[in-house]
Amino acid sequence: MPTGLPQDSKNPRLHFDIYAMLEGSQELYFGHEVQVNVNLVETVKLSTIGGQSLEKCYISPTKRRGVERRCLIWAPVKSGVLLGDQQKCGIPKTCTEPDCPICAPYGGLLAGSKTLIGRVTHGGGVAVQESLPAEKQRAMHPAIISSEGVKGDDKETPTPFKREYNQPGILYPVYNHGVSITDAEFSSVAYAFLDSLPRIGAGNPKGLAIAEEPTSQTPLLVVDRYLSPRGKRPIISPSKTNPQTAIDDFMRLAKYPQEPAEKIEHIEQSNFDRWIGNTALEKLQDYASQFVDEVLQVR
Ligand SMILES: [Zn+2]
Repeated sequence: MPTGLPQDSKNPRLHFDIYAMLEGSQELYFGHEVQVNVNLVETVKLSTIGGQSLEKCYISPTKRRGVERRCLIWAPVKSGVLLGDQQKCGIPKTCTEPDCPICAPYGGLLAGSKTLIGRVTHGGGVAVQESLPAEKQRAMHPAIISSEGVKGDDKETPTPFKREYNQPGILYPVYNHGVSITDAEFSSVAYAFLDSLPRIGAGNPKGLAIAEEPTSQTPLLVVDRYLSPRGKRPIISPSKTNPQTAIDDFMRLAKYPQEPAEKIEHIEQSNFDRWIGNTALEKLQDYASQFVDEVLQVR
């Protein structure tokens, strides 16, 4: 079955990867399920290479993807509306047009009639540190407060509730991959990735930052643009629990085949470009700015 993607000989398709180590600068809530008056965050259970059983906090890739899509839907366009309104593309009703700057990379679905398969996938999110979520008492549940106006026997007494939070300082290795997308489509992805960082989480507080290597202050960020997969992918084993070891692994894998001590920020091989650290950040920001100039400022 054909993919249904239009041919575009002027804009070649390539593969793009973003690898990053994000850090929570404060506690973070990203709801998972509710148990008797406790709102839980998502955790994963795993068995390490050494056979140890661990439970870790988790920023699920699907939730991160949802925040990125919302950032595109809510992006302001020059004419004074938001990109999603202008494009008639929202959640859950996406427009599924192959030339939509949101649906082209992130995919779309019109139930029962049309599907546009997304070509950006999200991975990672398993915390490095073995730090379990902490429970905190919160005020009344908003849904219960809003039902206070109900008269008679149905009136509920507001009940305090508890909410779990991921603790600050946790590192989350995360990865975004684009398969066969154009530079213009990757500009949506770069904008969404950068713009979503302060908005990850549900309610308040929110936000993750790109962590830095402690001695060189190099952002733990890698961007690949390629046809031919090369080097090593800077993916952190979920078995690792020591943040320094995880950071060292990230830089060692990012710089391969160079030595980790080499001061290298760009690896160029046949049909493969890798930007590391500050150059990777500049590259992503250049793409994000291309999205603003060519999509948001012309509509
Ligand atoms: Zn769309």
